[in-house]
Amino acid sequence: MANPSLLILAGDGIGPEVMAEVKRIIGWFGDKCGVTFDVSEDLVGGAAYDVHGVPLADATMARAQEADAVLLGAVGGPKYDVLDFSVKPERGLLRLRKEMDLYANLRPAQCFDALADFSSLKKEIVAGLDIMIVRELTSGVYFGEPRGIFPAEDGTRVGINTQRYTTEEIRRVARSAFELARRRNNKVCSMEKANVMESGILWREEVQWVHDNEYPDVELSHMYADNGAMQLVRWPKQFDVIVTDNLFGDVLSDCAAMLTGSLGMLPSASLGAPMANGRPKALYEPVHGSAPDIAGLGKANPIACILSFAMALRYSFDMGDEAARLERAVETVLADGVRTADLMGPEGGTPVSTSGMGDAILAALDASL
Ligand code: NAD
Repeated sequence: MANPSLLILAGDGIGPEVMAEVKRIIGWFGDKCGVTFDVSEDLVGGAAYDVHGVPLADATMARAQEADAVLLGAVGGPKYDVLDFSVKPERGLLRLRKEMDLYANLRPAQCFDALADFSSLKKEIVAGLDIMIVRELTSGVYFGEPRGIFPAEDGTRVGINTQRYTTEEIRRVARSAFELARRRNNKVCSMEKANVMESGILWREEVQWVHDNEYPDVELSHMYADNGAMQLVRWPKQFDVIVTDNLFGDVLSDCAAMLTGSLGMLPSASLGAPMANGRPKALYEPVHGSAPDIAGLGKANPIACILSFAMALRYSFDMGDEAARLERAVETVLADGVRTADLMGPEGGTPVSTSGMGDAILAALDASL
């Protein structure tokens, strides 16, 4: 059988630096575990604009549609701030998400014990935390029509956005959440505002329908999103998988992310419908941006990008054991006190560069054999 294909789009700023460490890890899995991928690389963001005059060339888009999974570094930077909105680096990323129809955004909030002190919450509330927020990514109030700023009858102005969800848009993202829960602790909490929004009532009814008809074995609860925000900071370990709409998901996933500390630690996945081979369309990327303030200095933490690759192993390639091996290697390195600058707390540790962190994770992988 052909190797699974992986398209790497390293992008701008620290993107290529953190991706270089991921490429070493991909090489390690090939050399030591016989797990090989057909890896190809292409340009996105400012790097694509510099060569093609657009932040994502049509040929790159076509390759992304064909790939079993896409792994992206980061896009953007001050050099491109002056560009017209239509060709800004971020448009390349938005085009990928839109044309691949990546409707389920997975944002894990996982707290490694060694970094529990980095959270703004008490250690006992976050230590060992492992939750997954599934945010609907392609519909809702960010896309609904009518939208715009219009003149009002009294001569002032009115700003309008429309929250709009169809049955199928809700059901498909609910299925993603239930599927994930089955691989985890079998619990889904759905969040909306059914008390004040009709779209919230529909959301609640459709999630319940998918549960009753297709996933009765998974424990389902419903919560108003404002209460969800409170519960996330009060006792986040009560959750396993949270599924919510685009707007609430945007806010709640950032809130949950900060339970765990540094931006340099946060991976994400965006999944779409299954392709002919059964794998979902998939884009994996760290949550952080291109960090122009530290680009080129060897200071970037590559762990968010490395954990994004671990998510690809698990969710695109059904390689849960390999993903767990990689996550354990990261955990070991952190427990040993190896720290890029962003992870350096008052307790100190061994300072390392981007490639030094890669070296340490590769050594931990070697030790795991
Ligand atoms: P950012 O995430 O790039 O950086 C925020 C802060 O976190 C910076 O101080 C940075 O040094 C630090 N940081 C981020 N990632 C780090 C890592 N891996 N290791 C250590 N420190 C890290 O956000 P920003 O500064 O608001 O945006 C910079 C550029 O990135 C902008 O052009 C923005 O549009 C773009 N951006 C891109 C994405 C993406 O590609 N998905 C996401 C957010 C921002």
